[in-house]
Amino acid sequence: MLNWVLWTHHTATEPRKGPVQRISTTLGATVALMTHAPARLHADYTALSPTAQAVIDKAFEDADAALTTSDYTDAMEYVAIAASIPLPASKDLAVCDCLHHGCGCGAIFDSHAQGVVVTAPADPDCNLSQLQCPTCGHDHPRPSAA
Ligand SMILES: [Zn+2]
Ligand SMILES: [Zn+2]
Repeated sequence: MLNWVLWTHHTATEPRKGPVQRISTTLGATVALMTHAPARLHADYTALSPTAQAVIDKAFEDADAALTTSDYTDAMEYVAIAASIPLPASKDLAVCDCLHHGCGCGAIFDSHAQGVVVTAPADPDCNLSQLQCPTCGHDHPRPSAA
């Protein structure tokens, strides 16, 4: 009987330390991940709702035709809001040119990110060049001939 009590006592307390510590470590890691989650800088156009896609299409048209910096930045703000990502410091976003002319990638990314490939320069009187995201620019670049 004494042995049984000791055994019970032993299993009820001693092993608890291990799992509890592991749980708190897991929670700590989860909290840390959640804290850093808003730093997501890319969105996937193909995963957005048709409404969000329509807002982004219109906003890129506006940015392309904008005559002032503030009009241009306003349009890029709409892209960022519709894509649920922060507007990068460059205030310049783009959808991967692969969306319509390549692998179907719909990445929305910072136009000034390292590794971005220009597939077509902006038309005269337009602001936006066609760009490939860094991943596509690395995997299957189609740089403009110009
Ligand atoms: Zn891409
Ligand atoms: Zn691609």
